[in-house]
Amino acid sequence: MIMICRTKQQLREALENKRKQKPGLTTGFVPTMGYLHEGHASLIRRSVAECDLTVLSIFVNPLQFGPNEDFDRYPRDEQRDLALAEASGADIAFLPTVEEMYPTKPLTSITVDVVTDRLCGASRPGHFDGVGVVVSKLFNLVQPQRAYFGMKDAQQVAVIRRMTDDLDMPIKIVPCDIVREPDGLALSSRNVYLSAEERSQALVLSQSLAKAKSIGETAGKTVQGLIDEVSNHIRESQLADIDYVELLAYPNLTPLAPNQLLLETPGELLLAVAVKFGRTRLIDNRILSFSEVTIDV
Ligand code: AMP
Repeated sequence: MIMICRTKQQLREALENKRKQKPGLTTGFVPTMGYLHEGHASLIRRSVAECDLTVLSIFVNPLQFGPNEDFDRYPRDEQRDLALAEASGADIAFLPTVEEMYPTKPLTSITVDVVTDRLCGASRPGHFDGVGVVVSKLFNLVQPQRAYFGMKDAQQVAVIRRMTDDLDMPIKIVPCDIVREPDGLALSSRNVYLSAEERSQALVLSQSLAKAKSIGETAGKTVQGLIDEVSNHIRESQLADIDYVELLAYPNLTPLAPNQLLLETPGELLLAVAVKFGRTRLIDNRILSFSEVTIDV
């Protein structure tokens, strides 16, 4: 049976008991905002396979939502989430209220610079500061050895990695592959907002990312050339309203010169898109490499 903790005190006691019963056990942690799907389940299963104890958190964190974003209407279904978490093998679920997490408004902020300059860091001001605070608090409460994050939010992985490195948090950040629907749409709790027509047009995201490798391998293709082709492909879907299409060096997320030739660009690149369909903003991405040239590190 999954153990449900709603307060920090309950969580601390549950962890203390488990650690007393089996000294030295390894704890894996999966932070989520709930409305769980197979993407979340894949993180939980990976933690279960690699750790003695798996803790899942479900918390829709107001600090990471902008004033005109979807905090109030973010989908919630606690009973379904707990059933899926248990079926995936989680041992403890932590479900705090906003008041429990933030009895007073935090005066402490966490800002990870540079890796937040572009992508969602640029189009959602303050978002990653809110993520930094909540993930730090959750890490302090759970004290895991390993924490599992989906590559669906590739920039989030870069931010959390940098934060744990910079602040000497003794936690291994484990990035996990994006889980997709059979037709390619990346799973997201926000997919439930989509109308049937938006859902069908949203396929353009995964389709344009899938094409990018072969487009980029054509002779003479530049960074901007690839961005333009992907953007044009997305724009063929009438309901698509592009927030960004960007190609950055991965994992540092540093910009590339627009006229740089892809076949002469070494290392891995992150092609990331954010596109609105109606009121629903979807993100997707793919890691690509074009050059055979290897760099010595
Ligand atoms: P969320 O509940 O959306 O905050 O997501 C919680 C965790 O699940 C994050 O680390 C996400 O990157 C991850 N996640 C969300 N969707 C997917 C997906 N389709 N595949 C893999 N991981 C995902």
